[in-house]
Amino acid sequence: MIVAMQEHATEEQIDGVIEKMVESGVNVHRTTGTTQTILAGVGPTSALDIDEFKLMSGVLSVHRISSPYKLAGRAFRPEGTIVEFNNGIRIGGDEIAMMAGPCSIESRDQIFLTAKQVREGGASFLRGGAFKPRSSPYAFQGMGIPGLKLMREAADSQGLLCISEVMEISQIEPMLPYVDCFQVGARNMQNFNLLRELGKVRKPVLLKRGIAATLEELLLSAEYIMAGGNYDVILCERGIRTFETYTRNTMDISAIPIIHKLSHLPMTADPSHGTGRRDKVAPMARASVAAGADALLIEVHCNPDKAWSDGAQSLAPEQFTTLMAELRIIAPAVGRRIG
Ligand code: PEP
Ligand code: MN
Repeated sequence: MIVAMQEHATEEQIDGVIEKMVESGVNVHRTTGTTQTILAGVGPTSALDIDEFKLMSGVLSVHRISSPYKLAGRAFRPEGTIVEFNNGIRIGGDEIAMMAGPCSIESRDQIFLTAKQVREGGASFLRGGAFKPRSSPYAFQGMGIPGLKLMREAADSQGLLCISEVMEISQIEPMLPYVDCFQVGARNMQNFNLLRELGKVRKPVLLKRGIAATLEELLLSAEYIMAGGNYDVILCERGIRTFETYTRNTMDISAIPIIHKLSHLPMTADPSHGTGRRDKVAPMARASVAAGADALLIEVHCNPDKAWSDGAQSLAPEQFTTLMAELRIIAPAVGRRIG
């Protein structure tokens, strides 16, 4: 159930509604936008008499939500969510955020050089995996926490934010000092225990779509995080598995406008994993911006042919710079900016 309060509803009126919802045994999630407060009731709401809430003072409208995701659904925050980081960078506003960096952190030199190169190209986030979900157990599995320390230092030296993948609950705590945003990878989109734990964290989470996940399943996974009280969730399309083999995955560009319709959460596009091919990353990145992506996640390596993971889909720094120049032309056509 969603209770939309009137624009100038007082705290007293809002508290009155919250109290009545709690008395009825539902969990209340509150969001206060620029003009309006919305209260989502989650739990046994079917027995509630909606008309009683409609009559309460300060209430504008009340409706039942038929979709299974209550907090991730558009109605919870009709004006959209902007996830703000402590240096003022925002995801979900007019400006499109660029997250770039290597698939894996490999060495001090590699991450420092790549950080400098992506910052010069215009990125605001440095990406890099320290815990790598590799298909083969014999492939490089990531540098772990020592790698994250290097990435933090490299990011700080360039004034960048840091995003890195968390694969299991035990990694959350040790990662906290080093990342500004947790990434949940495609393979963990339905690791519900991990999602629940990330709901307790007060740091944004970028949640990638699973390789065979529907958009409803992606939103339900976001709901797991939000139900714990962490509303700073950023979604990401990174390609899904289809019968096509030319590309590593099939980049579902339509997911971007669909998510914007169904949800208030910002939507990121990852054309690197979406295509698996360096030569197809730029066209899909351009299409993603045109389709309304709020951020892009792009693999860039200082020497992609020598990368320890995902070299084939990693851009060389100069390719990233060229792409950024193209995106700066496309973004204004759809009412956006790129830093
Ligand atoms: C990654 O970002 O390097 C990664 C492993 O992504 P995904 O979970 O989309 O495969
Ligand atoms: Mn990768």
